[in-house]
Amino acid sequence: MAKHNPGDLLTSDWNPVVGCQRYSAGCRDCWWLDGIMPWQIRLGNLPETVTEGGPTELDARFDPAKLRPKKGIVGVVQHGDLFWDKFSDATIHRVLDVVDQVAREREEKNFCRAKLGKPTDNTKYILWTKRGERMASFLDVRYPQGVPPYIACGVSVENQALADERLPHLLRVQGHRFVMIEPMLGPIDLTGYEDVDWVVLGSETGTERARPLNLDWARQVRDFAVANSLPFFIKQVGPSHKAPVRCLDGRTWDEFPVGFNK
Ligand code: SF4
Repeated sequence: MAKHNPGDLLTSDWNPVVGCQRYSAGCRDCWWLDGIMPWQIRLGNLPETVTEGGPTELDARFDPAKLRPKKGIVGVVQHGDLFWDKFSDATIHRVLDVVDQVAREREEKNFCRAKLGKPTDNTKYILWTKRGERMASFLDVRYPQGVPPYIACGVSVENQALADERLPHLLRVQGHRFVMIEPMLGPIDLTGYEDVDWVVLGSETGTERARPLNLDWARQVRDFAVANSLPFFIKQVGPSHKAPVRCLDGRTWDEFPVGFNK
């Protein structure tokens, strides 16, 4: 995780399970399947049995001690998609059990710290998926009183048709919810999806054939966010992740919801 990249939303990530399969247009050049996964296998950080289409649980990483030191905005299962149908409900519960345990320990410490007048730790755990329907249904069962405030739920979309397919499910989530438009492959009108907490946008990057983002598409989303007073974050609008272009009309957009501290 690129901690020092200003275009990154996260301070760190935690991947006790890994795996995914290409699912929609935005997956064509998946950074995990084509980049991180083979690289991590070469480094010996992942077993050679990890393949596209193969879900893997990494038991040692479920140790809460692996998650506890991660602070700020922590991506949960960035190396794949936690709501991929090859991960069983039991596996998703296993992941979220650790998140809940660590977050509740932190809340207890915060209680003591607040009494002593010390700053509290507001770490957020980010879930994001293209499988919005499964995420919404799963979280509804797991957290019938609402998703705890230390978790934020995002659905990623890449064009209008996929936004209209997935975002109604995001709106079913009772908790922090955000729209992740990345890679942006076409114009997206978010009218009707105003009831979210954050809008994030990014172009496709990473390969010479990265599909370009038309800046007018980004302007339309920015104008929607501004008109609806939604925090707006642009990861990048150019084709390179090594030299990211982050300015739109002369400024960057680095807004986070209240309580999210990178
Ligand atoms: S859903 Fe995400 S992780 Fe899975 S193949 Fe698509 S881009 Fe890659």
